[in-house]
Amino acid sequence: MSERRGVEVHHEDPSDSLSWHVGDVEIRRVEESVVEMSPRYLLPDVSQELLDSTGDWQHPFFTDDGRMMLSMHSFVVRSGDNTIVVDTCVGGHVERPLPGDPGFVDRLATAIPGGLDAVTHVVCTHLHFDHVGWNTRLVDGAHLPTFPNARYLVSMAELAGTEADDEMDVMDSSITPLIDAGLLDAVEQDHRIDDRIAFVPSSGHTPGHICVAIDSAGERALITGDSFHSPIQFAHPEISATHADFDSVAAGVTRRRLIAELVDQPTVVFGTHFAPPTAGRVRSGDDGAWFDAPA
Ligand SMILES: [Zn+2]
Repeated sequence: MSERRGVEVHHEDPSDSLSWHVGDVEIRRVEESVVEMSPRYLLPDVSQELLDSTGDWQHPFFTDDGRMMLSMHSFVVRSGDNTIVVDTCVGGHVERPLPGDPGFVDRLATAIPGGLDAVTHVVCTHLHFDHVGWNTRLVDGAHLPTFPNARYLVSMAELAGTEADDEMDVMDSSITPLIDAGLLDAVEQDHRIDDRIAFVPSSGHTPGHICVAIDSAGERALITGDSFHSPIQFAHPEISATHADFDSVAAGVTRRRLIAELVDQPTVVFGTHFAPPTAGRVRSGDDGAWFDAPA
């Protein structure tokens, strides 16, 4: 590790991926990496003092000395005949501010019954580099779709925002090849994939950000995308990813709205950047909301 900017990268044992059932839907977490880093670069308002004043429940997501555990993982969601990959992490073939893992795509293929060809949909919660990296892979110098039989889904507002300002330089490597292959669908922010899986508009972090809601056999779940980067934001929704947010004020409004919908409800929340145990419920407490995530 090099000074405080340095990140320490952990790769999981591929035989150890977490999975859950929400009604008849199976959700599997496939990890690219967990990065241990100072929160100052992502959530600069998270101080040691603030962590010390928050309950022990935040510990799986921060070390004792206040470093953030930022997980990069895909969720593989199996719903009836649909096999859906939600976000595709950093990638291993493009230089990025956070490290990708060239071995990830093989782990993903192993975790999906039928492999990469069996994926019917790839959902991009938004178009930041750490969510679209494995949309493509490098074959003979060309970026080709990793999931050749999938429809890649992104909200129209998100695509328009990125086309207007490709701040993270994702179009050439991760988006345009999908358009060229005829695999990208720009959809409404409240798009529905099937009777169990629907998008939830959640602009703020990016112009057209979406979360993914799962509703099956009386059970519910929500995949956060980057509406939350850490469970600490359930207790402190005012904490924003200041440098990464398109609109921090709107991101805060979205977090408060989602917390109001989730708190003390049976909905299981799956954090797109939450380190294991990754999933839990939002509960009210004496000092605001907290994240109840049994190991
Ligand atoms: Zn992210």
